[in-house]
Amino acid sequence: MELPSNHVPDLWFPDGNVVIRVGERVCCVYKGFLASQSPVLSDMFSFPQPQSVDTYMGLPTVTFPDAEKDVEYWLKTLLIPGYFQIYPGTIEAKKLFAVLRLSHKYDVQYFRRCALQHLARYYATDLDEQCRLLRSKEEFNIEGSGNIRFETDVYLLAFETGTPWLIPSLTYTLHKYSSIIGHSIDHLAACLSPFDLAKVWRIRGLVEKKIGMDSLVHALDDNSVGCSKGMTCASDTCRLLTNLYRAYGADPLGFSPPSVLSSALCSEACSSCSAVLQERHRELCEAFWAALPEQIGLGTWVELRAIKARDLGQPTED
Ligand SMILES: [Zn+2]
Repeated sequence: MELPSNHVPDLWFPDGNVVIRVGERVCCVYKGFLASQSPVLSDMFSFPQPQSVDTYMGLPTVTFPDAEKDVEYWLKTLLIPGYFQIYPGTIEAKKLFAVLRLSHKYDVQYFRRCALQHLARYYATDLDEQCRLLRSKEEFNIEGSGNIRFETDVYLLAFETGTPWLIPSLTYTLHKYSSIIGHSIDHLAACLSPFDLAKVWRIRGLVEKKIGMDSLVHALDDNSVGCSKGMTCASDTCRLLTNLYRAYGADPLGFSPPSVLSSALCSEACSSCSAVLQERHRELCEAFWAALPEQIGLGTWVELRAIKARDLGQPTED
């Protein structure tokens, strides 16, 4: 078969038996192979074709209703071995999003899972993992991540693809951005519904309620016996926290040791008061984390972790 000038490179197989239109361009691929990967496509291809069906060079022709670039990324993932970088390989965000979106929509479980394995490394469902993530963004493998646009894209995609276990950590991250970077609020308001925006605001309330600075400093009230600085630690800590008010409110979990902020806090207090502060901070973090999913209307961590385990093909832990 002659190679048309508007073919998609790497997606024109001369012995293919179905043509897929991607915008103005065309791919010639294998119907049976696509049907074997996707039950949705299998059903679609099994419908009897009407006489009036669109054809191209004598072959039946299909046009997906999805974004052209997404279709191209997804078809290449299905048809070209090694095209999709499995975790921990580095992958482009746009490719990852396209593969997750269309693998979910057309029920290609294998690549849906491969895509989620990348995102599972960014968005934790347990507190220790979340604190570790907040400290070590450099080890991530998605090109185009680390900005609020990426986070909001994942947020919307998590709802679209039925992966609510990504949402609590994501919402916390959006809270952090909106607290630190003023103009990020404009971006959130443009991308999220008022309903979702309200969830980000609710994190602020939960921080104040569960993990507030006053609860932290009050832990030193009862440490008069242990304190080696004649109880000046409480006022010194209080002064430091007042200076750090905005940073603490934006990312209280980021104060977990061994962060720079945590070290600053502990340098103001004697070793006994430091230990008390750290223990109290940990308790507050646990209470905050436990309450997080229900605060944003997502049920419990047990339920979310069960969905995550199913999505990633792991045994259920709880
Ligand atoms: Zn002390």
